[in-house]
Amino acid sequence: MFVDKAKIYVKAGDGGDGAVSFHREKYIAAGGPDGGDGGKGGNVVFVVDDNLSNLIDFRYKRKYVAEKGQNGSSKNSSGRGAPDLVVKVPMGTVVKEANTGRILADLSDYEPVIIARGGKGGRGNAHFATSTRQIPKFAKPGFRGEEFDLVLELKLLADVGLVGFPNVGKSTLISVVSAAKPKIANYHFTTLTPVLGVVKTDEEHSFVMADIPGLIEGASEGAGLGHEFLRHVERCRLILHVLDASEIEGRDVCDDFDIINRELEGFSPELAKAPQIVAANKCDMADPERLERLRKFIEEKGLPFYEISAATTQGTRELMLAVAGELSKLPPVKKFEAQPVTVAEMEQKLIHDKSFEVTVDDGVYFVEAPWLWDILRSVNMEDYSSLQYFQRVLRTSGIIDKLLEMGIEEGDIVSIFDYEFEFVN
Ligand code: GDP
Ligand code: MG
Repeated sequence: MFVDKAKIYVKAGDGGDGAVSFHREKYIAAGGPDGGDGGKGGNVVFVVDDNLSNLIDFRYKRKYVAEKGQNGSSKNSSGRGAPDLVVKVPMGTVVKEANTGRILADLSDYEPVIIARGGKGGRGNAHFATSTRQIPKFAKPGFRGEEFDLVLELKLLADVGLVGFPNVGKSTLISVVSAAKPKIANYHFTTLTPVLGVVKTDEEHSFVMADIPGLIEGASEGAGLGHEFLRHVERCRLILHVLDASEIEGRDVCDDFDIINRELEGFSPELAKAPQIVAANKCDMADPERLERLRKFIEEKGLPFYEISAATTQGTRELMLAVAGELSKLPPVKKFEAQPVTVAEMEQKLIHDKSFEVTVDDGVYFVEAPWLWDILRSVNMEDYSSLQYFQRVLRTSGIIDKLLEMGIEEGDIVSIFDYEFEFVN
């Protein structure tokens, strides 16, 4: 089975927790704090593996979770960082965030890509000793590792994509111009999996051609299989549009041409604008007058037109040379750029759930709000503007109002997770 789309979940490892510990030695009373830092959590890293040709493995294993960093321990010893979790994917896999559709990476070379970053380790209590706080009884927990629901989409890397109605002879063509051996048969949708073929035009030059399942009318609206496979021509530098000039199935070949282009347009306007070369196939069986009519029709659109017979290989060599010539003028195979998170998405995350709870115990106000965790993790309390941002969040979320309502006064302590500060209004 050829699987070219999969949904998975990845989570990088959390950072190890910082330790709370005090120096102990025989005959020495109270030693100083010596709790070590936690180790970094493992990243989730994607890398191309040429032994894989599709995404079937991800049908069976859908969760990829990297290990947590080791906790810190006494005697100032830091926890060990966790190893990266390596996920192998086939060449041409595009990784998207499932809920936003944002592209995180395009695995179309051998460079490993970090998809989810492991959390940093928390600091041990040794870091928190100050002149007024000589016995820090707390350490910081590790930062959370990133997690994502992902959609993986395989978009094959080919220079040329064959498109056309079923049965026009696409598979036959690729089988005579390359070493690829797709199934060829006289019925629709014999090609159920895309096939890549390397076309050598001479000793040094070659290009990759993709035979994808035939498009049918309505394919771009999901009517047939074609739609699912159109993504494989998305990267192609050139479209080779194959037509059945013999019109043996009773359709008008000029209509065929228009219908397929409409399908391409419906799937992706950008794809429809890609350079096209038209190959009129089955010329061995074509009516010369009808063929002339087709030639005029295509040439009026300003497209290069070639008459071939894939079955007898007549004209196929010329066609391949023309394709190679055209490719030499075109930019390389399209790589999808990673898209950054938008401000709107970040805000969306914050708006999501802002509920919180405040309890008070002996003058200390404990704020509990799960969503604040990530913000707190990302705020550097020593940096003024970050701190301001944090205070703004406390204000806009209504936490400050709640504290005032509960009677907080200047100098009272506010505790949020492991972060404590004196209230100033
Ligand atoms: P695809 O669905 O576009 O991949 O079409 P196939 O390559 O499977 O071919 C469909 C049918 O058309 C098969 O029976 C082929 O043998 C036949 N065919 C392909 N090319 C030619 C050709 O140039 N001339 C003739 N007469 N038949 C062809
Ligand atoms: Mg075929």
